Amino acid sequence: MIVGLTGGIGSGKSTISVMIQELNIPVIDADKIAREVVSPGEAAYAQIVEFFGGDILEEDRSINRKKLGAIIFNDEEKRLKLNSFVHPAVRERMLARKDELLEVQESVVMDIPLLFESKLSHMVDRTLLVYVDKKTQLERLMKRDQSSSADALSRIRSQIPLDDKTKWADGIIDNNGTVEESRQQLIHIFTKWDIL
Ligand code: ATP
Repeated sequence: MIVGLTGGIGSGKSTISVMIQELNIPVIDADKIAREVVSPGEAAYAQIVEFFGGDILEEDRSINRKKLGAIIFNDEEKRLKLNSFVHPAVRERMLARKDELLEVQESVVMDIPLLFESKLSHMVDRTLLVYVDKKTQLERLMKRDQSSSADALSRIRSQIPLDDKTKWADGIIDNNGTVEESRQQLIHIFTKWDIL
């Protein structure tokens, strides 16, 4: 079975991902793969450098993600262009990893933060949402990133609200409580889905 793990910014996906790996179920991390496919030698890297020019490179030829981020921040056309280089490469690599893992594993989890925003539910058999209420999300985000409430709020608001995502998820972990309480919910859901 392929499970898509998702949530909202600071809702606890990484925390749950660690727990899943402790249960000996492999997790494919979309963010990690997104960093991999833009490293020197990769096809997407070459496309990015060709389009955006050498100014976005560090001395060691790696891409300066901050610089690139600043360029696309207010430029929709360039942002779409960047996505057109990166997204297919990420998708392809995630699918290849999944196929490799499924040769030796019964189940695989794909950690895809923007699973619903990017309409990628078709890539997985079940979706698992890590949910927190707005107040907890804001508090944990501000604490983790040492950010102001205005900054944290604007990042939260750039995503689909978690309350909406609960309507589409097959399983929901309510992560407002303790980490241990969330672990019990995870075990309960995975047992019900016959993964454990
Ligand atoms: P992002 O999408 O921003 O990477 P995330 O969904 O992976 O975030 P985490 O980094 O796992 O979220 O969690 C956000 C913060 O909340 C972290 O500092 C984490 O330690 C803390 N946290 C997660 N779950 C709990 C919990 N149940 N109780 C207390 N703190 C928690």
